[in-house]
Amino acid sequence: MTTKASIVVIGTGGTIAGQGKTTVNTSTYLCSVLGIGELLESIPQVSALANLQAEQLLQTGSENFDNGHLLAIGKRIAELLARNDVDGVVVTHGTDTIEETSYFLHLTLKSAKPVVVVGSMRPPSAMSSDAALNLYDALAVAAHPSSRGLGALVVANSEIHTARDVVKSNSFKLDAFRSPYGALGIVIEGTPRYYRRPARAHTLDTPWSIDTLRTLPKVDIVYAYGALESSAVAAIAKNARGLVFAGTGNGNVAGHLIGPLRDAARRGVRVVRASRTGNGVVLHNAAQPDDEYGWLTVDDQAPLKARLLLTLALTQTDDTNALQAVFERY
Ligand code: ASP
Repeated sequence: MTTKASIVVIGTGGTIAGQGKTTVNTSTYLCSVLGIGELLESIPQVSALANLQAEQLLQTGSENFDNGHLLAIGKRIAELLARNDVDGVVVTHGTDTIEETSYFLHLTLKSAKPVVVVGSMRPPSAMSSDAALNLYDALAVAAHPSSRGLGALVVANSEIHTARDVVKSNSFKLDAFRSPYGALGIVIEGTPRYYRRPARAHTLDTPWSIDTLRTLPKVDIVYAYGALESSAVAAIAKNARGLVFAGTGNGNVAGHLIGPLRDAARRGVRVVRASRTGNGVVLHNAAQPDDEYGWLTVDDQAPLKARLLLTLALTQTDDTNALQAVFERY
């Protein structure tokens, strides 16, 4: 007989902790009302998967999360992972920004133990809610030895995604989570099955440790559109250490925006060209002479992911070559 894994489940709120008036309320409900203990008690099957401890760290929609929330969640997980009696952690989380919190954990936790972030698109009170199965699957993934060393994972709709790639791509469908190169694996009846591994460095192989991070530099995103005025770009760039410019298509920059972005780079703001499509590679020195302008490019990272990576990279260096190397490695 094998011993069961010991998993800590951290509650932070979201739809998975939500409650509607009736079962037909799949979209109209109160978020973040059920405690994590209550949620686990409503799924008695989870006790077969692991020895569980629950703790309520936050109780709010993930649209409210700022850098401070990310640091607090990461530091608490790191404390738990350091314990010999903890084999893995599951975080219940709103789906809106699950792609950001999980990626932050992926880059800053210093452990090979599984960390799984999970949410649901419908509250537990709704007809055909995904809450119970997503949480059950997340626990199954966290408790399984094959999930070690993969970095932070997001489990949803029977799929296991790497935190580097996953994004919420739909506002209401159960099938809302997508990774551009596909999921790492699936979960069936309490057993994960993996078909690929993350190729880029994470957790133990990054230079950023949640234990030593105290504050994070200000990095903003500017989303390109035809009527975007240069004064708006200049105003945002004014107070930022870094700026992700989510340009059209292949990270293109409209002629009238080149000036303010070059000025920002000259003042030391680290400007990174990304694509507002959220997919595909932005090639360095292709659509724009990036090296001449002192700009960086994101490789294939979506603007939200690139913002977090640049934020962490700026805690250690301002050097443009070193920063560009970060986008090629993580
Ligand atoms: N607003 C919620 C949140 O992100 C939505 C959800 O959980 O699906 O916290």
